[in-house]
Amino acid sequence: MLKSQDMEEKIVLAKLNEEELMNFLLSLDDKKFRAKQIINWIYNKSASTFDEMTDVKKELREKLNEIATITDVKIKTKQVSKDGTIKYLLEYNDGNVAECVLMRFDNRGNLTACVSSQIGCPMGCIFCATGKRGFIRNMAPYEIIEQILTIQRDTKLKVTNVVFMGQGEPFLNFENVNEAIKILNDKLQIGIRRITVSTCGIVPKIKEIAQKELIPTLAISLHAPNSLLRQKIMPVEKKYNLEELKNALKFYIEKTGKRVTLEYILIGKMTDTKECALELSKYIKDIKCNINLIPYNPVENLGAEYKKPTKKDMMLFKYILEASGKKVTIRLERGADIDAACGQLAGKNKN
Ligand code: SAH
Ligand code: SF4
Repeated sequence: MLKSQDMEEKIVLAKLNEEELMNFLLSLDDKKFRAKQIINWIYNKSASTFDEMTDVKKELREKLNEIATITDVKIKTKQVSKDGTIKYLLEYNDGNVAECVLMRFDNRGNLTACVSSQIGCPMGCIFCATGKRGFIRNMAPYEIIEQILTIQRDTKLKVTNVVFMGQGEPFLNFENVNEAIKILNDKLQIGIRRITVSTCGIVPKIKEIAQKELIPTLAISLHAPNSLLRQKIMPVEKKYNLEELKNALKFYIEKTGKRVTLEYILIGKMTDTKECALELSKYIKDIKCNINLIPYNPVENLGAEYKKPTKKDMMLFKYILEASGKKVTIRLERGADIDAACGQLAGKNKN
């Protein structure tokens, strides 16, 4: 099946799993070390072309140029923010597009890729640009991985951390996301402690991932301190409510010993009030967690009722929560000037 001479289209190496890739390369040259060299060039040395693979003999490179291509994912647009954040709009081979973002987080040299797991999202959170767009389809494991490889090929830098905080709900594409995590771990050598999955709270999957071999860090989009308010802004609350969510988190924490991150969006005069802060303090009391406050990022056409919080309200909110003894951070706005901040990934084809 992998003999390609009589096929019209080139073989896309990114689509092959490890065994298929190895067999394909061995079918061209029976020396195992050459196959390993090529795999290393693709996954670790971020090669964009076969010609760059200087230690691979020329005849093999020429053969590969003729019948294969490294990837079929294209960079459609690329925007660089004043703070160094880069947002890519990638085009997949069926014409669908999705966004991924590279962030330079700190002075320890960490490079964090924020990746998408679905084209669009079916969860319909009212404050989110992706949710507004609706659901198109799940992404294949290789389509997730190609986001990181594309960033690496383009920047020639090695991604050190991955967060599933782009478009889509990762736990609604559970198998493919888990497969991608395995590839990140095995092939790209990104340690599991450097991989975070953010979910709006798909309860059964929180329990399921706690029992996997590779368990990523969990971030939960909590966003409201009581069911009534949460239902208004996140339809998922009607299916899995805050109480069930807490039970699932306790299960995850007990099974894994890990701390979870609770993400909480501060929408001006709506979720950022003193009452909300007090209620949230109660909810998180018995959960081993850190809190990450995310100031609402304005989304085009979402209506004027959603506002950014004021600095004063944010500080008061943080202060009240801190009194509960938890570590509380306010998420820095990254790439807001290029619509790359949380919740702004619309992934629309603008051309
Ligand atoms: N679907 C997953 C992964 C997306 S992560 C999830 O919801 O957890 C993106 C994060 O940004 C989530 O916490 C999301 O709730 C938040 N977000 C969405 N829209 C936002 C907005 N307009 N401003 C700030 N944060 C937003
Ligand atoms: Fe989907 Fe997450 Fe946006 Fe909600 S916040 S619509 S779950 S991407």
